[in-house]
Parts: sequence; structure tokens; C-alpha cells
Amino acid sequence: MGNLTGRTALVTGSSRGMGRATAERLAREGALVAVHYATGKAAAEEVVSGIESDGGRAFAVRSELGAPGGVHELFLGLEQGLKERTGSSELNIVVNNAGVMGGVKPEDTTPEQFDRLVAVNAKAPFFVIQRALPNMPDGGRIINISSGLTRFANPDEIAYAMTKGAVEMLALHYAKYLGPRGITVNSVAPGITRNGNPVFDIPEAVEQMAALSTFNRVGEPQDVADVVAFLASDDARWVTGAFIDASGGTLLG
Ligand code: NDP
Repeated sequence: MGNLTGRTALVTGSSRGMGRATAERLAREGALVAVHYATGKAAAEEVVSGIESDGGRAFAVRSELGAPGGVHELFLGLEQGLKERTGSSELNIVVNNAGVMGGVKPEDTTPEQFDRLVAVNAKAPFFVIQRALPNMPDGGRIINISSGLTRFANPDEIAYAMTKGAVEMLALHYAKYLGPRGITVNSVAPGITRNGNPVFDIPEAVEQMAALSTFNRVGEPQDVADVVAFLASDDARWVTGAFIDASGGTLLG
């Protein structure tokens, strides 16, 4: 029996990347996991069937965060999926993972691009938490995925890093607010982590990115998922409001 047996979890953006690895890991620990996606229906369904064939429990839920009504749609699907499987809409763990990157020079960043980054990366997690809290019993867990770029300069990602700086404020202030309920709120900051971006198919680029980590490799999605799984567990009950560096030592300089 895993350490999350009987718990329910939402992982936003878990059709791929580290969200997927997190959904798989939480399910392996026994949680019933809502695999959230925006466009990747087939990918999300594949994650669900992979979890089920490993003996775990999961279901897919679609909504586009950052679009009007996105959080509402997410919770309609989430609550329906939870009720069908558990008889209640109780939600123990929220992982705010879905995010979009910038990759645009500061002088070329348009107001529309800036608004989109803020809407998906910062505004949506705030309202996901607001909407989740009435369903979350005491002892719940909230984990927000930030980025090492709140501590490591990259001028092509100023707007993106601003949104991640905002995400980190959720842990500081919500941790204080929710402490009396035993709910912990933490930020996890990955460094460069392999995802579907074609840059990871270019060996020279991977070598350069790997050199940023003291371990001389890029992160794998599971490297971050394991940290999130710890924070989601009872073992992390005394950790709240924390910034957890999961960058493979990139921030050591
Ligand atoms: P991926 O790009 O591999 O996957 C992104 C996931 O988020 C997908 O499941 C995607 O769903 C979902 N998503 C994206 N936009 C939206 C949206 N508007 N509404 C709903 N879902 C959305 O992610 P990564 O694993 O690379 O990154 C995960 C998190 O980690 C992000 O917050 C990112 O900023 C952060 N991060 C990533 C780093 C990296 O090097 N990869 C480094 C530091 C932080 P779908 O496919 O269905 O559209």
C-alpha cells in the first residue's frame, strides 16, 4: 500500500512532462489522480490507461487555463470524476503544474504575450487554489511549480520569471493562512527539465544545458515528480511556505 492510499489529487497539465511524471508517481503511491490537460486529450488518456494498467486509479479532465471560465470548467469535470469514483468531491492534493514559457526577448514581448503568461502561470493557480479549498479537508497539500528562473537570470524569460515569482507568493501567504488547518503550501523550482521541446533532441544543446547543473545532466521529469510526491506525503507535514530548489544544483552558480 502506497503512502497516499485513500487520497485524491489534481495535477494540472499532466498530459506530458513533469506533470505526467507527477500524476504517475502520485498514483503509484495510491492516490486517485485527476490528469488535467488542455489540448492533449489522447496524451492524457494514455497517461490514465498507463496508470490503470499499473494498478492505479486516474481519470482525465479537460480545461484551458487562462481562458475565461477555465478554472470553473476544470472543477466541473474534476468534481464529477471524483464523485463517480469516491462518492464525494473531497480533494486532498493540488499540484499547480500547468504552465507556458516565454522565450521572447524583453523588447519583443507584446502585451498579449505578457497577459497570456500571467493568465496561465499566475492567475490560474490562484483561482485553482481558491476553488479547491472548500473541497480540501484538513491536512491537505498544495504544491506549486515555480522555476529556477526566479533565482537565475535569463533575459529571454523576464515575463515568464515574473509570473513564477508571483506563484512563489502563493506559498508564503497561503501557508500562513492555511496552517491552522494543517494544509501545507510549497513551491518547487525545477531547473532545465526534459520535456517534448525539440531542443532536447539536439545533443550539443543538451550538453550545454546539462553543464548548468552541478550533476552535469538535464533534469528528468521524474526528478521533479519525486520531490512533489514527498511534499504531498505525510512525511512533509512540517514543511510549509518553502521554496524547494529542484534544479539539480543549477542555482549553486
Ligand atoms: P510541458 O510543456 O511538457 O507540458 C505542459 C503541460 O501543461 C501540458 O500537460 C499542457 O497540456 C498543460 N498546459 C499548458 N498550457 C495550458 C493551459 N493554458 N491550460 C491547461 N493546461 C495547459 O511542461 P513541463 O513539464 O516542461 O513544465 C511543467 C511546469 O514546470 C510548468 O509550470 C513550467 O513552467 C515549469 N518549469 C519547466 C521547466 C523545464 O525546463 N521544462 C523548468 C522550470 C519550470 P496540453 O498538452 O494538453 O496542452
